[in-house]
Amino acid sequence: MEIEEALRRAYEAAAPEVGRGRPAEYIPSLASVDPDQFGMAVASVDGGVHVVGDADTRFSVQSISKVFTLALVVAAEDARIWERVSREPSGGPFNSLLQLDQELGRPRNPFINAGALVVTDRLQSLTGGASVALRDLMREESGRADVDWDPVVAKSELEAGHRTSAMAHLLASYDNLENPVDQVIDQYVTQCALSMTCRELALAGLFLARDGVRADGSRLLSARQTKRINAVMLTCGTYDSAGDFAYRVGLPAKSGVGGGILAVIPDRGVACVWSPALGPSGSSAAGLAALDAFTTYSDWTVF
Ligand code: GLU
Repeated sequence: MEIEEALRRAYEAAAPEVGRGRPAEYIPSLASVDPDQFGMAVASVDGGVHVVGDADTRFSVQSISKVFTLALVVAAEDARIWERVSREPSGGPFNSLLQLDQELGRPRNPFINAGALVVTDRLQSLTGGASVALRDLMREESGRADVDWDPVVAKSELEAGHRTSAMAHLLASYDNLENPVDQVIDQYVTQCALSMTCRELALAGLFLARDGVRADGSRLLSARQTKRINAVMLTCGTYDSAGDFAYRVGLPAKSGVGGGILAVIPDRGVACVWSPALGPSGSSAAGLAALDAFTTYSDWTVF
């Protein structure tokens, strides 16, 4: 089936799921987002972009940012980050303090909050401004110079972020942060507050489908590094339901509490869906259903 048609059918199939569940409530400014929005974009490596629904409405990327900070750190120093972070599925909540303590301050993977704090900390050491480095990458890859973070969302998360704060201090107590705790938290909530559309995110992620090659033809990652980041997305990218997600969708993906999901189809393209209401798995309910249907109708799957 043509991509355009598969996208349209996936959108229709997932429509009954829109608004099912609730937007994330622990970040106050996300709780008030209209849950009935739903958009989807597919960018292909040959340059085409297909969109449906609210694909040009900006939303809070939240944890989807974690893929890109990891890519920047791996681009800078290859495998070194794995000395501080493991790469196993968490098997527990994405914001678990208990698990971090049990693992003696070494996060289970870079996509749960503890692991992402360590990645941001490293990017801060490497660049002196982790969130700016991330924003620059997103601007360049999406081709949109006005991509930016939403200061209201960042402030809202900062004010309600007792758990993130506790997590960062716990990491520091295990000597797994290089920068001052408050600086790491600030960079982290700012990166999560990046505001982008499905279309922009799909374009920004294309290097993951192109063996690490960026929009301008230069290389961010080697093919081997790209393969590894995609593998960690497949096993760890969708909270504690990465197994079910792989079963239903069969793609490396990263979800965020803003309701977005970014999925990579190596050598073919990137799909991004967004609908703010989160289902029991913590990922967007409509987004999950849409990607499930999309990989069923198209032959864009890694399996
Ligand atoms: N900023 C959010 C947090 O730290 C990101 C969570 C997510 O999207 O999974 O809780």
